[in-house]
Order: sequence, then structure tokens, then C-alpha cells
Amino acid sequence: MIPFFKPTLGRAEFAATRRVIRSGWLTTGPEAIAFEAEFTAFLERGTAKNGKPIRSLAVSSATAGLHLALESLGVGRGDLVAVPSLTFTATASTIRHLGADPIFIDSEPITGNIDPSDIARAFKEAKQNGRKIKAIIAVHLAGHPCDIDEIREATGNRHVPVVEDAAHAFPSETGVGMAGSLGDIGVFSFYATKPITCGEGGMVATRNSAYWERMKLMRLHGIDRGAWDRYSSRSERRPWEYDIVAAGFKYNLSDLAAALGREQLKRANKLLKLRRKLARQYLTMLADIDEITLPNDCPAHSWHLFIIHLQDNETRNLLFDALRRKGIVGSVHFVPLHRMNYWKSRYSLDSKNFPVADRLGDVSLSLPLWPGLKLRDMRRVSGAIKSFFGARI
Ligand SMILES: *Cc1c(COP(=O)(O)O)cnc(C)c1O
Repeated sequence: MIPFFKPTLGRAEFAATRRVIRSGWLTTGPEAIAFEAEFTAFLERGTAKNGKPIRSLAVSSATAGLHLALESLGVGRGDLVAVPSLTFTATASTIRHLGADPIFIDSEPITGNIDPSDIARAFKEAKQNGRKIKAIIAVHLAGHPCDIDEIREATGNRHVPVVEDAAHAFPSETGVGMAGSLGDIGVFSFYATKPITCGEGGMVATRNSAYWERMKLMRLHGIDRGAWDRYSSRSERRPWEYDIVAAGFKYNLSDLAAALGREQLKRANKLLKLRRKLARQYLTMLADIDEITLPNDCPAHSWHLFIIHLQDNETRNLLFDALRRKGIVGSVHFVPLHRMNYWKSRYSLDSKNFPVADRLGDVSLSLPLWPGLKLRDMRRVSGAIKSFFGARI
């Protein structure tokens, strides 16, 4: 059996959680604060040196982070937010949580990332209809970074904020900075199957202090002080001396999860190297199979997913079944949102307006790729794919 994904956890993670349990402080406190600082330092080690300093906030999930990010941008009722159709539903549902409407964008054929030329079309169309696109969410699909400058240009340089859904892209050093630090707000996921994990968790990062302040406030009930500050003996104020300045959310990250996240962060570069090595092995092993299109070997790829494209939907499905019979678990990222009942019916979406995303949803197959995979596992996967096509010729 070769599972689709398995997290890389070890003694360091055990020791970290033990440390937190012994301390008696489980909710957001010193571990989360340290995690934020370490995560910021990690992003700052990227190539972009000319921007304002980055600040990070640990949150309970990337979904929570996306909600906070859009809220801090002032997205609300009646607004439009551009979002790729080829993504996980959380990217779009957080727009609805604020009473705004997503405007779905088609994909580029190679990476599956949001297509800048379709963004330009959406802006024109919104203008004709007298509506305003308030923000764009760019998803770095599979860990292949989007070109954020190109996305900004597609808006006609209207200074529309770009939120990066970097749930797949950690770490992804693009040459002009880390994915997640290129737009206005970056959102990362530490869900169980993501590049680094703390079970459930996420991080938001921004160089904009107004967005940061707002997200910090809304992350924890709209209280102007955190619990660690209120109950710390070093605090100058009494615990109950706080004010409520907004109807905030409950999106903080526990110290138990943050301690796990800190250990995973220490491993992040090593895990990337392992994933990259395995991805390159797949690229070599599968190079001579004419029936599949391999992913683009971009140097900035974080290789969260290894997505191959088949010739048609039937072949994709049959290959998935053939692999599963041999104990090899594949997956699909993603069935595009324009085909999901809620989105489709609410916005009367038609597949013909998303030809690329629609096709990618039909022909994509994600192969198992995680740092613990062995060379013999890779050989089994590539051998199974080869024999599938051999048997069909
Ligand atoms: C996993 C994922 C999310 C949501 O992450 P959570 O931490 O589970 O909320 C958002 N966007 C994309 C593209 C994802 O893959």
C-alpha cells in the first residue's frame, strides 16, 4: 500500500508537545508567538529585501486566514472577489462568509494557476456591469507559484489587493521573494496533508500594518488584548481590563499546535529538498510515456503535489482505478468549483466559460508524493503507470 500522503513527524514533535503539556499553558501563548516570529524570519530569508518588514499571525486554519485576510481588506456585501475555479472550496467560501460574491476565473493550461488574461476579461466585464472587483485570490496550485506581477498588470494596475492562497506553496522561493510574501496578504495552511503540518493550523503574513492590526484583532473575538497578555504576571493591566472593539472570530492557534508547527518549520527546507528529489525522479521515470503530460519543473516549485495530465477523462479514471488496485492511492486537485452544485447553481456557472479548468478537472491525476516515499515506491508507481499504458496499446 502506498498512501497518497503521510506527514513527517518524529521525536522533535513528541518533545515539543510534551513541553507544552508540562507547561500547563495550552492555548495561544509563548509557543504561538515564537512560531509567528520564526515563520516571519523564514519568509524574510527569501530574496525580496526591499519591501517593508513582514509580520505573521498564527491562525486555526488557512480557511480562517483567508476569512481574516478578506475581512481586513474591507470585503463585504455586494463586493466581488476574483478567484480561480480550479481550487479548494475554502478559497471561495470565505468570500461568501463576508456576504461578497466570487467571480470565477479560468486557469492557465500548464500550471492550472489563475489565468491573468481571464482576470483582465473579468475586470472589463465587471466594469460594464457597474460592479467592482475588490480583491483577487491567487492560488499557487500544487506549489507552482503564480506570477503576482502579471496578475497585478492584468487588473490594469488598479491597486486591487492580491491575497495569495499559499496553502500548497511552502516553501517556494521565487527569486523575487517567497510565495505568500509577494501579494498583499499571504495565507498558509498547516492542515494534516500540507507541506508542513500541526494537525490543523495556518498562518497569515503581510507587510501592511493596517491589515495586520485588523487581522490580529479579528482573530480573537475583537478583544484588544490576548489571553497571554491578560494572564501574564508581567502584564501592566489587570486581566479584565480589556475592551471589545469588534465582533471578532475565534481563529487563534493553540500553543499545542504551534509547538508542533515550530518543529515542522525547522524541517521545512529539508522536506522541500526531499520532495524535489522525488519529483525529479518521477519526471525522469515517466519521461518516456507519451500518453501523459508531466508538470512543469519550475525551480520555485514546492512540490506539494505532483499532478500529471492524461489525454481524457476516461483514461484518467481508469488509471486511477488501476493504481488503486495495486494499492497506490492517487487523487484529483481539483474538480473545479464551477462544477460543484452550490457554486454552479448559485452563480449559474457554465463549463464552457472555463474551458481550461474544466479540462484539467477531467484529466488531472495527483500521484503520491511525500518525503518518506522510497525509491522502490516510486518505481512501483511508475511501473504501474507504464504497465497500464502497455496493456492498453
Ligand atoms: C487545504 C487548502 C485550503 C484550506 O486549508 P485549511 O488549513 O484546511 O483551512 C485552502 N486552499 C487550498 C488551495 C487548499 O489546498
